[in-house]
Order: sequence, then structure tokens, then C-alpha cells
Amino acid sequence: MATSNADVKGESKTSKAAASGTSASGGDDTDGKLLRRLDHAFIEVVHEPLATGRAYLGAVVSSLGAVALGAGVYALLMLEGRPLYAYAIYVIVLGVLAIGVASLLGPHGQVVHVGELGVSIVVAGRAQRTAWYEIASVSLTDGELRLATKEGPLVLSLPAHRGAAAHVAREALRRIPKRVTLSDEQVRGLGDVDTKKRIAAEPPQVTSSKCRATKKPLTIEKDVRLCARCGVAYHRASVPRRCLECDAQLKSA
Ligand SMILES: [Zn+2]
Repeated sequence: MATSNADVKGESKTSKAAASGTSASGGDDTDGKLLRRLDHAFIEVVHEPLATGRAYLGAVVSSLGAVALGAGVYALLMLEGRPLYAYAIYVIVLGVLAIGVASLLGPHGQVVHVGELGVSIVVAGRAQRTAWYEIASVSLTDGELRLATKEGPLVLSLPAHRGAAAHVAREALRRIPKRVTLSDEQVRGLGDVDTKKRIAAEPPQVTSSKCRATKKPLTIEKDVRLCARCGVAYHRASVPRRCLECDAQLKSA
């Protein structure tokens, strides 16, 4: 638990450093103290899933399904006229069913990234990111950390993703505290946060989005400023004094 506290203290120190404009490349010295340009070096922490019995079973069933699917397709294409040909379609159906069942047993191999820009679930090598401001609520129910978003809930099951859940809960408390319903005890109960595996995050694609303040499209990357706390985007000429999503102070009074 001591490590956990140290981590939290470390993070808040980093946050204060960024807020006072002392971070190496973070602050925007013209527009405010808690703003990020898109060329900022964003960092995220990689959380590998823990192997659970259920995940192992899912991986085995998925592999068997893939083998059945391959064998069925082979029989269908190559064994026409032979006795085994008649079974090919059943083997294919069995393979598809097994892969379907395996997906229900998941998530095996699902990696979670947590960082300044939000929470990313890596599916088949592609990261699907949810920014902090896009998270409407963070709750803990039935062994799952549940993040409500407009696109549907993002669920981290504790047996497989305890480390990621602990990190998400602490970051959410720091960035969007009013949207977090966990008690301090629940957060502590999630355990320590391991932030050793850090990588550079892909910068967000914001030029297809709109300024949070004016609702006008953001078309030029160098004009975009992100709230360093919740990640919402503003046009540099329309940054409000306080962030409209997380209330962080973006400009001096
Ligand atoms: Zn904000």
C-alpha cells in the first residue's frame, strides 16, 4: 500500500509541476498553464491483462475454433467427391461457434493503455481511445470498473485488469473527480499502480472535431489546444478561463 501512496503523491507532484508551467514540454506559455499543444510528447502506461482461468479457456476454445474453421474450409475446397466432404460445412459451423463462444469468455489478450489522453483498449493491434472528458461516470460494481460513455460502457474486469482499473480510478479521481463514484476505500482496494511500462501515445486526431467552447470545426492542428487535465479540445483563440468539462483553470484570472 505504501507504494500506492507514493505513486499517487508522485502523480500529484507531476500534476502540480505541469500546472505551474515547470514541466519540460508540457505547458502552453502563451495561452495558459494547463493547456497542451498537439505536438506535446504525450505518455501512456501499458497494462497487460492478467491471465485468468477463463481467459486461458477462451484462448484454447478460440484456437480449436480456428483449426476447425481451417479444416472445414480445406475440406470444402479440396475434398469434393470424397466421403469427408459432406462433413465440411458442419466443421465450419462448429469452428465459427467455437470462436463466438471464445469471444464471450474473453477478454484474453486485451491490453489497456492509461495516460494523459485517456483510456485506450487495444483490440487487434489498434488502440481505441476514450478521452477523460468523454467519460461520464466511473463506478465499481460486481468485480468490474465501469466507465460510462456516450458510445456505451467501457468495462474493465478486475480479475484480468486490476492494475489498469487501479490506474484508471486514480487518474479519474485527479482529472474528473465529480464523475467518480468510488469511495477512497474502494480505490485503495484496487491495489497499487504499476507505471513502469511507459510509451509515447499517438497524438489525438482532433482536426475532425469541434472546439468545445464555440462548436466550430478545428481544422488547423497548430490552433488546437487541449485541456491537460481532461483532454477536451479548444481553438487557441477561444480557450475559456476554466475548462468547460473539468473546471481546470486554463487561463490566469
Ligand atoms: Zn478539462
